Amino acid sequence: MSLIRQSSFQEKEAVVSGSLYLVATPIGNLEDMTFRAVRILKECDIIAAEDTRQTRKLLTHFDISPSMLFSYHEHNKAASGPELIRYIIEGKNLALVSDAGLPAISDPGSDLVKLALEAGVRVIPIPGANAALTALIASGISTERFTFVGFLPRERKDIKSLLSTLKSSQGTLLFYESPHRVIKTLGFLLESLGNRRIVLARELTKRYEEWVRGSVEECLTWLESHPPIGEYVLVVDGASEEEEQKLRDAWWQELSLEDHVDRYEKEGMSRKDAMKKVAADRGVTKRDIYNSLL
Ligand code: SAM
Repeated sequence: MSLIRQSSFQEKEAVVSGSLYLVATPIGNLEDMTFRAVRILKECDIIAAEDTRQTRKLLTHFDISPSMLFSYHEHNKAASGPELIRYIIEGKNLALVSDAGLPAISDPGSDLVKLALEAGVRVIPIPGANAALTALIASGISTERFTFVGFLPRERKDIKSLLSTLKSSQGTLLFYESPHRVIKTLGFLLESLGNRRIVLARELTKRYEEWVRGSVEECLTWLESHPPIGEYVLVVDGASEEEEQKLRDAWWQELSLEDHVDRYEKEGMSRKDAMKKVAADRGVTKRDIYNSLL
């Protein structure tokens, strides 16, 4: 590793290349666009956007006409990223925006940041709205310490394994979720973390902004009669001190699943019983253990 210093406002140094600006855009309410974001978008030579159609609407609203609007998303980032960096090295200033909120949060922006830094390009954040922090501050759940989880993985096995690592974390947990998966995700949270306090923050800053605060079970009941629509942030209470202590004290904490099962087998249990015992220790189902050991 080598130490590299960047000065974002020091114009006297010989900066030959352009800069990469990470520009926040509103998460719904256009009034949340900042003056600085509008100015930077007007001044930049290129705007790179996740969804150019969506961004064009925003630009039109703020009377911004970019000389170049480039598409940069998950499926073209491998080719598009190096091309964008080449433009910056040639002296162009580039603004990266995502569909909503802060670029590089749950979108491929962070890959472009890495490429830029590797190429010695200045990366300058233009802060603004962000769904996770907007949900957190009004949730009523502790803001003292928190973990941003973002979207859960797709596979059940991966979801369970991630949630088991978060189970003992005392900080508030922040999840992003689409309306089609909210109910399923609450089911996973209930199964893996227990019936914790949770806040469903829906359609933040928009006309139908809504907050549902309760236990995971209460929220699941609510969703039966109010099917999920719109965008959600889930704010979930962290582990209690006792829960955290209990897990920290667990003798098997440092063992892999395989070693944990092995240990019981060595004590004379059948493989099936050992897996059952491991599932009980870890507060997950036998099927989870079985699937993880496949
Ligand atoms: N970059 C964005 C940010 O800074 O918050 C997040 C982008 S991520 C691809 C999209 C997810 O963010 C949505 O699926 C939803 O979970 C959350 N989200 C975005 N806008 C939201 C809103 N207005 N209300 C609630 N959640 C929102």
